Amino acid sequence: MKPVVIIGAGMAGLLAAAQLHLNQIPFLLVDAQNQVGGRLYSEHVKGFTLDVGFQVLQTNYPEVQRSLDLHSLDLAAFESGAYLWNNESWLAFVNPLKQPGSLFSALASGIMTVKDAYLLARLWFITQADVQPLGSQESTQDFLNRWGFSPKFQSHFLRPFFGGIFLSAGLNPPASLFRYYMKQFLEGTAAIPATGIGAIPLQMAASLPADSIRLGTQVTQVSANQVTLSDGATVDAEHVILATDASAAAKLLGVSLEKGAFWSTKTLYFQVPASADVKPMLHLVPNSRVLHYAYFSHVQPAYAPKGMDLISVTTLDVSMQSADVLTELAPFVGPSIQNWAFLKEYLLPEALPVVGAFDELKQKAADAGIVLSGDFTGFPSLQSAMQSGREAAESCLKA
Ligand SMILES: Cc1cc2nc3c(=O)[nH]c(=O)nc-3n(C[C@H](O)[C@H](O)[C@H](O)COP(=O)(O)OP(=O)(O)OC[C@H]3O[C@@H](n4cnc5c(N)ncnc54)[C@H](O)[C@@H]3O)c2cc1C
Repeated sequence: MKPVVIIGAGMAGLLAAAQLHLNQIPFLLVDAQNQVGGRLYSEHVKGFTLDVGFQVLQTNYPEVQRSLDLHSLDLAAFESGAYLWNNESWLAFVNPLKQPGSLFSALASGIMTVKDAYLLARLWFITQADVQPLGSQESTQDFLNRWGFSPKFQSHFLRPFFGGIFLSAGLNPPASLFRYYMKQFLEGTAAIPATGIGAIPLQMAASLPADSIRLGTQVTQVSANQVTLSDGATVDAEHVILATDASAAAKLLGVSLEKGAFWSTKTLYFQVPASADVKPMLHLVPNSRVLHYAYFSHVQPAYAPKGMDLISVTTLDVSMQSADVLTELAPFVGPSIQNWAFLKEYLLPEALPVVGAFDELKQKAADAGIVLSGDFTGFPSLQSAMQSGREAAESCLKA
């Protein structure tokens, strides 16, 4: 029997491979890079663990629950909440479901109105039901305005927090996706593995037969039953699952993507001498080119060497340099910003696919008899990438 060829060993391709392996179907998983994981990758620099772009593992995602051994990832979680900027200092706003007193501090500070508190409670109530991530045409920003969240609560909490999830400053993604993520944050935890976010795909790959994975091998041509590799060799396939990122899939299928099909971001890392009194939560920076910063090593201590802390800074302004970040954050951090020493930055021009930008690509793959997989086939998240991989394998099993 010819193998199913899976192109791309990101989380989508790995899930497809795991599902085929479970059903004893021969497969070949090919990736252009020398490692698995695609956008889920970590580097180790000067004793620090740096994820290539700020990201977290939502432990409540159904596919995460189903396919990962969370225990052996040795996860540590963000505290549910965030630091909000209150005139000249930071206010720790802990999830009111876990610490109701936090609500009163936020109300007293004026960052939140009584109506905002009521609307949050109403949101919490509607997220008790099943929330479909892609059910609405309305943008998140339009939804927040229609519901009547106050401008200050939007600028000090909702926009920097969800802007950092969507990587969209204008909160353009669908309101249904906002409600879906809200549910994940309220019901699950946002966690990081001890050895970096890249430990997740490594765990998946470890359960697959090593001789079925070929790394450092780019696919240059694809059809329903054959792929051509960069060295000119061809591999015949029972089925082909195209699980690359959207740009690579478009190139292989000869589709031109619209400008603006991706959200971009930059993550900058700084090291500072260890400090004891900062909670493992994001500092949300209002009305700024920086969305948020976090003492990452207070979430996952294994990310920094002893005596040091690791700070991550997330911006959507990809032109920002480390010096710009220090200038921008000086009023929020105070004189201790002098201790921030720049470590490394990661620019991710195609970090997340824009919902709805890939219809032509999907049609072209369907017409060519190629099974398409990847986060861009659904919505930008590990959940969607993993689900699409599993479903791609299932469709090969049925065919
Ligand atoms: C900065 C950032 C923050 C994020 N934050 C979160 C978060 O907090 N929570 C969350 O759930 N998700 C988050 N995500 C999204 C999540 O990382 C992605 O949805 C997921 O990793 C996508 O997996 P994938 O398999 O679809 O694609 P990818 O990871 O892009 O994998 C595609 C693979 O295809 C390979 N490939 C491409 N072309 C070829 C070719 N011609 N031949 C062979 N191989 C090829 C690539 O090398 C790559 O390994 C974030 C992403 C980024 C970048």
